[in-house]
Amino acid sequence: MKKKTAAIAAGAAALIGVNAVRAAKFVPEKRNLSPYPEENIDVKRFEQNLSDAIKIPTIADKDNDAINWEPFDRFHAFLKERYPLIHKNLSLEEPVRGSLLYRWKGKRDDLDPIALLSHQDVVPISEGTLQDWTYPPFDGVNDGEFIWGRGALDMKNHLIAVMESVETLLEEGFEPERDVYICLGHNEEVMSSEFSGAIVMCKYFKDRGIHLDCVIDEGGAILPVNVKGVIDAQIAGIGVAEKGYADFEVSVLAKGGHSSQAPDHTALGELAKVIQDIENHQFKATLSPMIMELFDSVGRHVSYPLRLVTCNLPVLKPVLKKVMTKIPPAASLIRTTTGVTMASGSPAPNVLPQKASVNVNFRMYPGTTVEDVEKHLRKVIRNKKVEIVCKPGWKNASKISPTDSRCFNALREICSRMNPKSIVAPYLVMGGTDACHYEDVCENIYRYSPFLVDTGLLLCTHGTNERIPLSAMPEALRFFKIYIRTLSAE
Ligand SMILES: [Zn+2]
Repeated sequence: MKKKTAAIAAGAAALIGVNAVRAAKFVPEKRNLSPYPEENIDVKRFEQNLSDAIKIPTIADKDNDAINWEPFDRFHAFLKERYPLIHKNLSLEEPVRGSLLYRWKGKRDDLDPIALLSHQDVVPISEGTLQDWTYPPFDGVNDGEFIWGRGALDMKNHLIAVMESVETLLEEGFEPERDVYICLGHNEEVMSSEFSGAIVMCKYFKDRGIHLDCVIDEGGAILPVNVKGVIDAQIAGIGVAEKGYADFEVSVLAKGGHSSQAPDHTALGELAKVIQDIENHQFKATLSPMIMELFDSVGRHVSYPLRLVTCNLPVLKPVLKKVMTKIPPAASLIRTTTGVTMASGSPAPNVLPQKASVNVNFRMYPGTTVEDVEKHLRKVIRNKKVEIVCKPGWKNASKISPTDSRCFNALREICSRMNPKSIVAPYLVMGGTDACHYEDVCENIYRYSPFLVDTGLLLCTHGTNERIPLSAMPEALRFFKIYIRTLSAE
């Protein structure tokens, strides 16, 4: 007996030892961390130009004919005036009213071009919230700490940073090897398919047989993570995919009539059971390689005792999945989400509904299509008489871009060399971007805005007091200069 206990103890000790060694070795891969030479950047000009760009309220509309073009025309004139070298050296087309497509011709035409995307449009101010702003949303106030206003984070910051970088590279006499395209869509914020600037620009490439080496657009950002004794890092979240979007109207029909003679269950009562069926059958969660890579990247950077856990992530997958599905923001990273958002019944208090409906909003995980969602609904709802209608405006999830491409490897190197605290991690973007429309001409699509912004500030995007810290701006300029120089090379 004693022998057996001793053997178990020895076995356990060996296992702990092996795990300790594994945890000790579970560190970030060795990379070239030598800093880049100093970049010539004009931060004051960047601040001034961003501030002035915000003053032009470029708000789009689903219907191109309903767009007030005056601000867009003014914005185009503003770009021409502020970026003379770009307008002298790059060709410019407007493949659809409002969208701008710049081409910086490279020295070689046997190499696939690269593209940098930004949208010019911003969302309007929600009704009744204007007075809540510290500074008016279209004044572009620079108070010495932040630049305030609509578009400061989404995404005139990114657009102006790209323009500043290219203008500066031109000032320095830089010539790219590959063609560099700057694609400035005009209606990303509104889901309009027919006139979508991004769709038309992608068609422009397709029609000319141009295949892009890589695309960079908005999406991830640099997030500081600091938990004392555990981790002190900045996560550069590179969006390698984005979720899909669909609204379904699910309705129960009934006879209706006077409410004084109500049946046991009205259409709304029946609908309640339908909602329960939907909510009780959530989509299956999957810890895809992309998400495991995210955990792996972060797990390697936590302090030693905690690495005893993080180095075993593959073994802990089932537990991790269970925990994540219980936390809505975490669950959204690993499955198609289901949100019952709107309901309607009869038009008056004393009328029985002839039709009761709910809107169910789905954010599809890559690989789950809108057809899959409809099949899922028909399967889990026990009441087979329900009406299920997919509303217009749906969009399937994007493909997942690789994390071993020339571009992703370059992003890894650039972020690490610019900041040794940086953890480059693939990430799933929840909202939509223009980038997914480029899938027909490019496999390497990354969504990343190189601005260090904490989560609190990121929540101001599309909301009140959207603003960008001045401190985040110089690094973004440096990033784009290095990015263009690196990726436009052979
Ligand atoms: Zn945006």
